[in-house]
Amino acid sequence: SSSFPNTCSSNQNIVNPSRCSSQEQRNLNLGLQSESQSEVELAPSKFENVDSHEPSTKNVIPPQNSPLPIHNSQANGNDNITKIADSNLTMAIPPQNPAISRANATFYVLCRNTDLYSLLETIQNYEDRFNRQFHYDWVFLNDVEFTQEFIKLVTNAVSGDAKFGLIPQEHWSIPSTVDVDLMHQYMDLMINDPDGSVPYADSVSYRHMCRFESGFFYRHELLLDYKYYWRVEPGVKLYCDISNDVFKEMEEGDYKYGFSLSTIEYPKTIPSLFKYFKHYLFETKQDHLLLNDTNYSEFIYDESKDDYNMCHFWTNFELGNLDFLRSVEYNVIFEYLDSTNGFYYERWGDAPVRSLILSVLLRKGQIKRFSEIGYKHAPYTQCPISESVRLQNRCSCDPGEDFTNKWYSCSWYFDNVSLPKIHRL
Ligand code: GDP
Ligand code: MN
Repeated sequence: SSSFPNTCSSNQNIVNPSRCSSQEQRNLNLGLQSESQSEVELAPSKFENVDSHEPSTKNVIPPQNSPLPIHNSQANGNDNITKIADSNLTMAIPPQNPAISRANATFYVLCRNTDLYSLLETIQNYEDRFNRQFHYDWVFLNDVEFTQEFIKLVTNAVSGDAKFGLIPQEHWSIPSTVDVDLMHQYMDLMINDPDGSVPYADSVSYRHMCRFESGFFYRHELLLDYKYYWRVEPGVKLYCDISNDVFKEMEEGDYKYGFSLSTIEYPKTIPSLFKYFKHYLFETKQDHLLLNDTNYSEFIYDESKDDYNMCHFWTNFELGNLDFLRSVEYNVIFEYLDSTNGFYYERWGDAPVRSLILSVLLRKGQIKRFSEIGYKHAPYTQCPISESVRLQNRCSCDPGEDFTNKWYSCSWYFDNVSLPKIHRL
């Protein structure tokens, strides 16, 4: 049923797991331009060389020697805290001052100029519900320049610094190894699918977006100084106050990834994704990672069908450790998947791609499910069931709309596989 070719094409545009395993891997193109990044350690260009499966903190990007992440106003020495310290009244500073103990973190939004007003609504909501207490920065990326109007209104809406970046063109374009005519043939097949339309079947920009979010955003220069990110999209909504610093929670728990909603993917968008993923694991002698009790492979792997079960973290809400995303281990898998051109010949979403990689690389306990955060990205809602949680956090959502236990949610399943086997249903 797959429209993806099953044989290795003569022009080597397509990697076939059984017949094209020796195809050379493209080198990591980190696209880092600034001089300070010149010592970037490249991932092995041959994935055959990768035999370590232990998650590691070894980074593609050298650790930044950044000082404590302090807010700009402090760095300027013009705010109250500095003045108090100057006059030997240091003890007057509340020990829990969030501006001092914040994590090195930022919100991250990929968006278009036309998203401005739905974005402003979302920013106001995130600021009111969370960020007005902490003043974390916001990084906005776009494949074209943001307009002055956009920059003015958005900067005015956030309580931390607002940073606006342009995506390098090579991170947002069809790779030269893609046969564009062939891509359009596959797109037409997807558009005219007899079982009904596949979402975004006809969109090339959506494919750029999914590839960028899978393997490039964390390499953008505006994100290099940060260790944690929280992805936000125009139009999403928080339903409850978040009084604790979730970035600090990520840091203190040493979580590599956090999510709220999880669901199942449209199989038609990823007919070959798992085949290639599995091929990568076999080629690198890491196939044992698919049946491994110490990682999250059970979250994605249906052993009875020897196939992907379609579960994925919904990436429109995600918190993550950027150093982990910048690790060799993550990027070597991304690069392999990208080299198959499945982002374009099929329509691989960043959510299933990210989820597959995380599920084999991360150890149990390294992924946090934020179950008490009320959140909506249409059409799904997470709403805390507990009335006391909703009262305490002034939630405005209807618990009857909570998505967690629906059959097409994977969150209940995540909870189940996160437990040691003996405690499971
Ligand atoms: P969906 O959630 O899968 O339906 O996809 P969205 O349309 O919400 O896109 C996901 C994210 O990528 C959102 O933050 C969008 O604003 C952003 N996005 C999607 N397409 C583009 C694009 O062509 N250019 C830019 N700059 N951002 C995009
Ligand atoms: Mn969206």
